[in-house]
Formats: sequence, structure tokens, C-alpha cells
Amino acid sequence: MNDTISTSYDEGWYSVAEIHTQHLLDNLSYLRRCVEPGILQMAVIKADAYGHGAVATARVIAKAVDWIGVYQVREGAELRESGIDTPILVFGTPTPETARFYLEYQLTATVSCLEHFDILYPGTSYHIKFDTGMGRVGFLPHMVDRVEKEIHAQPHLRYTGLMTHFADSEVVGSAIFAAQQEAFADVAEKLGEHVTVHAANSGATIHQAGVHFDMIRNGTALYGFDPNGKVNPLLKPALTWHSKVSQIRRLPKGSGVSYSHTWHMPDDGNLAVIPVGYADGLNRNLSNKMMVRIGDKYYPQVGNITMDQIMVYLGNDEVESGSDVILLGGTDKTSAYVLADLLGTITYEITCMIGNRVRRIYT
Ligand SMILES: *Cc1c(COP(=O)(O)O)cnc(C)c1O
Repeated sequence: MNDTISTSYDEGWYSVAEIHTQHLLDNLSYLRRCVEPGILQMAVIKADAYGHGAVATARVIAKAVDWIGVYQVREGAELRESGIDTPILVFGTPTPETARFYLEYQLTATVSCLEHFDILYPGTSYHIKFDTGMGRVGFLPHMVDRVEKEIHAQPHLRYTGLMTHFADSEVVGSAIFAAQQEAFADVAEKLGEHVTVHAANSGATIHQAGVHFDMIRNGTALYGFDPNGKVNPLLKPALTWHSKVSQIRRLPKGSGVSYSHTWHMPDDGNLAVIPVGYADGLNRNLSNKMMVRIGDKYYPQVGNITMDQIMVYLGNDEVESGSDVILLGGTDKTSAYVLADLLGTITYEITCMIGNRVRRIYT
């Protein structure tokens, strides 16, 4: 166990998410190698950097990227207050209440409907977002002439970028993707001159050609995950979630374990108690499904996951109290890919769900 992790336990933390900073940098350079040289790169660190810690992640990657992407204005403001001076694009919708922060913190706004032009303060820089098939936010392609008129009608604002977002870019040969690509090419032809044109998320960066334009926007792959849900050996998951065995119990055959006794001891044997539960972000639907790693062996988590603790069945193995436990990390049985499959979700949600009782450390 490394020193920072044991110091964290000494300070009273019960679990630690270790972020391997070199993996973040290696993933960024892999993504750059996926596209033609000279294309700008945005690191997407919204939602506390997908659970990895936004400010610390920004400090690691700021010099390696051209832009940072966040969702909320306050996420951008927090980065500025932490001394990050990389250009920041805020994907979220501007409101009359938040419009002044774009200027105050030098954040670039995303304009996705006509009202936004009226809300933004003079001098604000903005990118225009088109909805080419995501069905979420953005101007529909048939509005391109109307938008162009509005850009010219608002000379006190600074039009600096044009963007769209893909709904299915991780699927090679996707018809949804192809339709979006075509629609955006038309928009970019009309509005893309003299501004930064960007469309590619991680999926389009890795799995599609011809849509990298002037900049790629990389979120999940920065953290080491291929958005197609399959292990990509060229990406390195950056986060390893550790805890330590708080107690070893020996229980007789047939004993029920945890709430509702969903599991019983198959024999006399040992249980390890780990001080992490659903309040820390270990989704209760993983009960009786997930494995943890102790030393170099994998053991099943048994019984219902509780708010603060889980139990792990060791059989007759002897494990010391205080031993390092890996709950999440790497690309095998404790990987976010596996946990996402068990939960019927995507790797993105797995790292986002790690809560604030889990200390982030950077190694
Ligand atoms: C979240 C987000 C991204 C990053 O997507 P990944 O699939 O994580 O790479 C890019 N662009 C926009 C607009 C987003 O909201």
C-alpha cells in the first residue's frame, strides 16, 4: 500500500480513489494519435472529471490540452478560482442569472437557442451548438440561415466556435452517426469559417474518420475507457478504488449474511468486512454480484451491500485485517467495464457514482 493511501486511512478516511496521473496523460496522447496532427484537443472534465476530481485533474492535464470542457458555469468558475487559465467551454445552458459569470470568469458559452443571444453579456465568447440528431439541445439544421442572421445581428458578442454532439459515434458503421455527420457537414460549410469547428467525442475520436474538424472533445477515453464498452488495450483506466479490510469474522455454515439474508455461509469459513457501502457509491444492485481483489486473489462480495459496509467471502483463506482491497480498477474482474455490465449501465456512470466519502489521491 502506498504512503498516501495509508496516510489517508490514518486521517480517518475509509476508502481512497487513487488516480494514476500518468495514465491520464498517456490516454490523451493516444487520442491525439488517433487524429491528424494539428487538431486541437479538449479534455472534458465535467461532473468532477467523471468522478476523478476536476481541479486536480485539470492541474494534471492543463498543459497537455488546448481546451477544457465542463457542463455547469460553476464548474468552470471553480477551475478559474483554482488558477486554471486554459480556455474553458461550458456546455450547459446560459440563464439570465448565470450570464455574467461567463465574462467574469472568462468562460466560453454554448448557444443552443435564440434566447441565449439576448441573455449573454456584451463581449462574451460563444460556440453555437447544432442538434444534428442527438435530440437533446441545439439548433436544428434547417435553422442555419436564421442562426447566421442572428450572429450578424449580435456584433457585441464573439462568435468563436461551432459544434454538434454525436449520439452513436462508438458504433462503427452506425447509420445514426452517418446521418449526423452529413447534417453537420452542411452546417459547417455555412457557419464554420473562421471559427473552431468541433464534433468528435471519445467515440468519434477513436472509431470514426472524417469528423475530427478543428478539435476533438475527450471525456471517457481520457479516464481510460472505450465508449464502446469493450476493453481497449491502448487506454489505461486511471482510477483504482481502494479500501482495507476492517475485520475478519469466522462464521458457521448456514449463517445468513447481511440484510434479508440473501446469502448464507456454504460452510464454516471466513468473511472480510470492508468499510465501504452504497453511501460511498457502491450501488446496492451489485450485491452478490461483484468481486473484490485482496492481494492477488479475487473474492465474491456476499449478502446485501449496506450503507457503510460490505462482506466478502474468503472460504478458508486467511487474510489480515488492514489488507488492501481493490473495489474498482484495471481492466479485469474489478474493472468499470465489468461493474457496468453487472448494473446494465455504462462505464461513465461507474466512476461518476463514487461519492464524497471517498478521498481522491493523485499518484
Ligand atoms: C460529455 C460530453 C463530451 C465527452 O464525451 P465522451 O464520450 O465522454 O468523450 C463531449 N462533448 C459534449 C458536448 C459532452 O457533453
